[in-house]
Amino acid sequence: MRRYKAIVGVLIAAIASFLVSCGGSTEAVAPTYTPEKISQLTSYVTRLESKRDRFPELLNYIEKDNWVNVDNFTHGPLGQLRAELLRLSNQLLPNDQPKAKALSEEILGHLQNLDEASQDRNYGKALSQYREFVGDFEALLDIVPEGARKQAIEEAESEPVSSVDETTTTMPAE
Ligand code: ZN
Repeated sequence: MRRYKAIVGVLIAAIASFLVSCGGSTEAVAPTYTPEKISQLTSYVTRLESKRDRFPELLNYIEKDNWVNVDNFTHGPLGQLRAELLRLSNQLLPNDQPKAKALSEEILGHLQNLDEASQDRNYGKALSQYREFVGDFEALLDIVPEGARKQAIEEAESEPVSSVDETTTTMPAE
């Protein structure tokens, strides 16, 4: 109940600031994303951006029919995706959450389809599901306030990247 009240409070604040922004000023698109909220969001978005940086690697495995590495990738680097997407969605403003959660379900659905296509060694299906997966992933990141995303992209780029090639024979223990 307390949580419900808090959400209603945030909603009222969001509506109020929306009304204020309709009153003339157009500069603040999402005025209730405070700097604290932005920095909180940044750490979640960074994790997702660093995964997005590696999507070409996944595509490369699909294109080479390297289904072992496709599998390693979906269960290794993308193995915690459900929890990470949920954490991000929960940190967004209440009015951004339904879209974020719907896109998260889309993303996870395509990932599961990709996984199945990989088990079946179905190149065509794997490729189309990969594309849908990436498209929905990017649509989700587009919801993130720009300040958090810019910061996250910078932080993700400075992270060292290791290839799943190293784990071709053994599944990552996770
Ligand atoms: Zn989709």
